[in-house]
Amino acid sequence: MRNIYDLTLKELEDYLISIGEKSFRASQIYDGLYKKRLSSFDEITNISKELRQKLNNTFSLYKIKLLIKQTGDNVNKYLFELEDGNKIESVLMFHDYGISICVSSQVGCNMGCAFCESGRLKKVRNLLAYEIVEQILLIEEDIKKRITHVVVMGIGEPFDNYDNVLRFVRIINCNKGIDIGSRHITISTCGVIPGIKKFMKEDGQVNLAISLHAPSDELRSEIMPINKAYPLKELMEVIKEYISITNRRVTFEYIMLEDVNDSEKEALELVKLLRGINCYVNLIPYNETENIQFKRTKEWKILKFYDILKSNKINTTIRKEFGGSVDAACGQLRANN
Ligand code: SAH
Repeated sequence: MRNIYDLTLKELEDYLISIGEKSFRASQIYDGLYKKRLSSFDEITNISKELRQKLNNTFSLYKIKLLIKQTGDNVNKYLFELEDGNKIESVLMFHDYGISICVSSQVGCNMGCAFCESGRLKKVRNLLAYEIVEQILLIEEDIKKRITHVVVMGIGEPFDNYDNVLRFVRIINCNKGIDIGSRHITISTCGVIPGIKKFMKEDGQVNLAISLHAPSDELRSEIMPINKAYPLKELMEVIKEYISITNRRVTFEYIMLEDVNDSEKEALELVKLLRGINCYVNLIPYNETENIQFKRTKEWKILKFYDILKSNKINTTIRKEFGGSVDAACGQLRANN
């Protein structure tokens, strides 16, 4: 049975037309599910009993289960169980500008980045759109507040699950539904070029972030195997094309790994790589984990790196830290459960 949260408004309209109903019923159903947050079709009382019955026979509703919630300083982490028993996680962060959620897009990940805890579990399968949508619905129900920002930066490589992730984006962006503005949605990729090429042709204003982490092919290939398939020169070319087509600014994420990518030399290489590109760099203090040998760069060195970028006119921020206290950061959650 297909899950109702897997359908875009357009698909629901098409389904309704195909069974001889008026397409505007789709908006009523969306309204019931996403605005009123009704949890069964029988509660959607502005549609006929027959239609409710048909929906009951055709679609399932909530299917993922909230297993564990942990709270820390301005951060909640959630572990969910999927219908088939697989587990995924999301992290919720309370900022002064709103509430953001970091959602997973796959069970496991095949990208094999050396520093990443999430990637230690190889990809089991892609998530379907509804499994990501339900992460948002269940968490909003838990906190009794609206999530304002969504980042697809949890476990998985979104562009290795392109169609489901874009479907998810269409569903949460729909103004008849959850209605999260596209400018408040960010997809992060480790640099899967075919995905970026497709993404630049989508409409909407969804943000793109690139996990860069190294300014040279030599170093990047060492810590991110994807770089062997899509080396920096090609990646930067496609990013420039993306910016010229969409007119949008790209974010580069750069994890600070002690004595790996954090010296003055790398800072200057990064300046050279990014000069003239409409972007900003987000320096991320690395979250150390038991199983992986990389260490976090000392704060003074992060600041020095930051200064070099800034003084060379590269827009740069240092990521505010969340989650360390509850192991919520980037894939540490599932690892312990
Ligand atoms: N595969 C996509 C989406 C996952 S994003 C991508 O690579 O962009 C997850 C982000 O968290 C990436 O930027 C990743 O490099 C970063 N990350 C992974 N492990 C981390 C850790 N231990 N500490 C801080 N950031 C980490």
